[in-house]
Amino acid sequence: QQASMAELQNLYDSKDKALQIELLSQKNELNQQLIENASQKRTILKLMIALTSFAVILVIVLYRSAYRNNRELRVVNSRLAEQSARDPLTGLLNRRALQHAIRQPTHGRQDAMLLLDVDHFKRINDHLGHAAGDEVLMEVSRRLIKASRDSDLVVRWGGEEFLIYLVNIDPDKRPLMAQRILEAIASTPISLEQQDINVTATIGFINYPLAVARDQPINWERTIQLADLVLYAGKVHGRNQAWGIMALNQPFADIQQLLETDLPAAIEQGALDVTILHGPKAS
Ligand code: GH3
Ligand code: MG
Ligand code: MG
Repeated sequence: QQASMAELQNLYDSKDKALQIELLSQKNELNQQLIENASQKRTILKLMIALTSFAVILVIVLYRSAYRNNRELRVVNSRLAEQSARDPLTGLLNRRALQHAIRQPTHGRQDAMLLLDVDHFKRINDHLGHAAGDEVLMEVSRRLIKASRDSDLVVRWGGEEFLIYLVNIDPDKRPLMAQRILEAIASTPISLEQQDINVTATIGFINYPLAVARDQPINWERTIQLADLVLYAGKVHGRNQAWGIMALNQPFADIQQLLETDLPAAIEQGALDVTILHGPKAS
């Protein structure tokens, strides 16, 4: 009995040990797993840190390059805008620039426009060559800039035609300005390589907005057309002079046809007020 008891005890002990061993090995396995997990976690964390740093650096690099590109674009853009507003020969503003400026609200300002056409310019080209003609246009431009105020817009309107937009100018000063410009062109000969030449110009000037009796002021395109009409009258009457329209005394629609077909008659009838000024006598 004792022997069988001991045997049973032994059996029991050995089973218990086997169970304990099994348990221990499972525990071990679990621990191993935990250690592995922790190491994986660390690896993932390291990877994430590396990835985030890389992304941050990439974003910074991209941002800086975009910023640089933007700045360069802005410079190129403003240079293009400047070029597209200027006449390449004279550096004056071009027609497009004036059209842009004139569309801005005038806030009740009293401005004026002065259209100028160089007299007998074709002769200069014909006798002295196109390059000499270009020289004259450049010198005329310089003289116009010098004679006008900083606030005025000096525009190359066409081949040998210029437009000066006089911003906020006293009504009394408008004829003075026209006179000043006639003199700026004609008082001193223009020196060219071959010779000095006397150059004159004819001007048509007009108030803008132009007062029209019993009517709204006319738009700027029509205003320039009227200045062109009186400029032409100045050409017919001997050139080197300035004709200015100060006001229309009748609604534009009523006198438009007469103005376009018979300006002297329109002036005779008092349909408009015109001022005439003469340039300096040729030396
Ligand atoms: P008017 O007194 O009636 O104005 O006579 P004009 O000879 O000045 O007028 P016209 O319109 O007959 O001639 C203008 C000339 O200007 C014709 C054209 O060849 C010349 N022209 C236009 N643009 C330029 C330019 O950029 N350079 C040069 N050299 N000539 C130009
Ligand atoms: Mg012309
Ligand atoms: Mg001309």
